[in-house]
Amino acid sequence: MKILKFGGKSLANGKGLETVLEIVEQKIKKGEAITLVVSARGNATDDLLEILEKATSGESYLPVFESFKTYQKAYSLDFPQEFALLEKLFEGVSLLGDYSDKIKDQIVAQGEIISAKLVSYLLEKKGISSVFVDSRTLLVSDNHFGNAQVKEAISEQKTKAFFEQLPKGTVAVVTGFIAATEKGETTTLGRNGSNYSAALFANFLQAEELQNFTHVNGIYTANPDWVSEAQIIRNLSYQEANELANFGATILHAKTIIPLISKNIPLRILNTFNADDAGTLIHSQTTEKGIRSLSVLEGNALIILEGRGLLGQVGVDARIFRALAQRNISVSIISQGSSERGIGFLVANQDAEKAKKALEEEFESDFYTKDVSEVSVVKNVGVISIVGQDMATFHKPYNALIRNQIIPLLINNAVTGNNVSVVVYNHQLQKALNVIHGEIFSISKRVNLVIFGRGTVGGTLVKQIFEAQEAILLRKNISLRIVAVANSAKCLFNPKGITTNEYQNFETLSQSYQLEDVINFAKKHHLENLIAVDATASKTFVENYIPLIENGFDLVSANKIANTVSYDFYQKLRRVLKENQKQYLYETNVGAGLPLIDTIKLLHLSGENITRIKGIFSGTLSYLFNTFSDSDKPFSEVLRTAIDSGYTEPDPREDLCGNDVGRKLLILARELDLENEFDQIAIQNLIPEHLREGKVEEFLSRLNEFDSDYQEIKEGQEPNHVLRYVGDLHGDLSRTETSRLEVKLVSVPKDSALGQVKGADSIFEIYTESYGNHPIVIQGAGAGAAVTARGIFGDILRLTERDRN
Ligand code: ASP
Ligand code: MG
Repeated sequence: MKILKFGGKSLANGKGLETVLEIVEQKIKKGEAITLVVSARGNATDDLLEILEKATSGESYLPVFESFKTYQKAYSLDFPQEFALLEKLFEGVSLLGDYSDKIKDQIVAQGEIISAKLVSYLLEKKGISSVFVDSRTLLVSDNHFGNAQVKEAISEQKTKAFFEQLPKGTVAVVTGFIAATEKGETTTLGRNGSNYSAALFANFLQAEELQNFTHVNGIYTANPDWVSEAQIIRNLSYQEANELANFGATILHAKTIIPLISKNIPLRILNTFNADDAGTLIHSQTTEKGIRSLSVLEGNALIILEGRGLLGQVGVDARIFRALAQRNISVSIISQGSSERGIGFLVANQDAEKAKKALEEEFESDFYTKDVSEVSVVKNVGVISIVGQDMATFHKPYNALIRNQIIPLLINNAVTGNNVSVVVYNHQLQKALNVIHGEIFSISKRVNLVIFGRGTVGGTLVKQIFEAQEAILLRKNISLRIVAVANSAKCLFNPKGITTNEYQNFETLSQSYQLEDVINFAKKHHLENLIAVDATASKTFVENYIPLIENGFDLVSANKIANTVSYDFYQKLRRVLKENQKQYLYETNVGAGLPLIDTIKLLHLSGENITRIKGIFSGTLSYLFNTFSDSDKPFSEVLRTAIDSGYTEPDPREDLCGNDVGRKLLILARELDLENEFDQIAIQNLIPEHLREGKVEEFLSRLNEFDSDYQEIKEGQEPNHVLRYVGDLHGDLSRTETSRLEVKLVSVPKDSALGQVKGADSIFEIYTESYGNHPIVIQGAGAGAAVTARGIFGDILRLTERDRN
């Protein structure tokens, strides 16, 4: 025989109830022997509790009661007896303004009775022989109203006796959830208790299977309403299911699994509304190992008892739990250090004040002697249980949480099984669940990007990301999503990732914004693994770095400002990064996409003594002097071509003044822990003094005033020499005072490394102790939107890779 249990949503008016009847009819046609266990229909239990609360507080409850009745008798069967009883009970409660747990059980029990009566009636109408069975005649319990304990031996006897006399082919429709004391008083088995009833009947009757028809396909790796990547689990062991049941998987009542284990009865979770799905099978043997699922328990409070005076005292814990037990307060997770000087544990939110009071009473005299300093309550915390987690690999989810700025309030591992529970604030629960889920099941890890700057570099980056997204997901299991793109005035948001289409309609879809809006957006949508990209050329955007870091963003920047303003800020930024365990990558600051900074960082970190860095840092100036040295054209003509080809800034003086090269040199110096400031760089300004001020147009009309000076310099060189504008970091680089930062025009042999550079290439020579006179040379395109964007993209991937470990 099989036991079929149907939940409230499955039995709701309309599609639910009709489908249930069809399912039953099909099984009967196939000749299957079945017994049904039913919950109250729709939201009956909640409705009855609501009416009860209204009646208690003297509010008018009749309208809600009326609509309850209307709903429940929608199938032309009336329930005069149950309705009359409810009416009487509500009236009494409303007169007294109070009720007992016993009355409450009697009230909610009517939901199951009405449900079973109706299902049985409808089966009969379909020509299926059926009886309504009130489980109060079968299940005997203690008188712990609201959460009664079933007395198994006597209940088993009664159940067997009843089913033995039941004619073959008659379908019993049994009420779930309810039982009765030996005196015949109605009790209930706790919320979602019909599952437990069904498991008990399965045990008593040696059922071959228990089928639990719900409104979901089965048990998932996490609640799919919260985690969009959650996947269904096809097989679970009893142990795993039991852990899940204990930690908030509402499909399973905490006690459901136990009666099934001893008789080895499989439990199948099925979806009434998707009956073809195989669902989840819970049984004794599963081959899968490791972490199976994450469950969530909301609505708890953390109680903390503190007191130095308790150190070394014996029996403090016993007093705590006795005090709580006397008031019937259940404790879920406990954490305590090696001494009894403080303890933290969880209770249900609604018990928090009662628990606090209980402890304050118990430890009243200890307060007086100052042995106990405080009982504090942190309300609204939630628990995520990682079922199957062992301690050896717990660092993974833990680190992922910290990276995402979720600091667990308490961590607890089950000594008896592989299960770690993490307590976090309710408002962080969904994000925490997603972070852990992404880390553990690595179905795909989401990385959420916010890109500031829509100029040529930003725009190219967005394009490159769109093009590579699919391949990265496929090869690396990383789902890279651009959740926001902004220019200085407006921002386009989409928490699920901006599509190419939306991006093309930036102007119409974007809205004006402040940085705060971006931060709040990330919070509101619980976005994890956040990276902010600074692809702006803004001098002021750097002000946003610290707030971004403090709000959980890693940073990638093509903007040089943050690294070249005062050394104070440079240090502060790194301090904040460290405090928040965030990263800041800026490979494109020097030499665009060339792997320069990363190389220098690694050399320096590994203890290699870098003695000099010298090179052509500016693509623009590289082009200018390469061309000028090779041709007979006057300097102004070469400069003009560079301007017209877009190789220079709109005001070419920004390139020619040498500050940009100076900044890059400073960035490299600081990588070597030198504490130089910008004004300590000796920069040779290439602009004749009298042209340095004034409007761009005027400057552009006087370019030929460069010519005589530069012609003279060119002709004054030794034979086979060429001009190069270089950055040079040299001197004794072990101390800031002895280091020298120079940016200057030099004449070098044509066949030297610097002399051979062509086009607009950059070149960097890194001299170190081990490499001696043969520097490491890094050369290539050191400017341009495509290579810069590619370099930023590289930094983004570095961050996502780092997070994998
Ligand atoms: N009707 C009860 C409840 O809603 C029992 C159940 O559905 O399992 O908690
Ligand atoms: Mg239910």
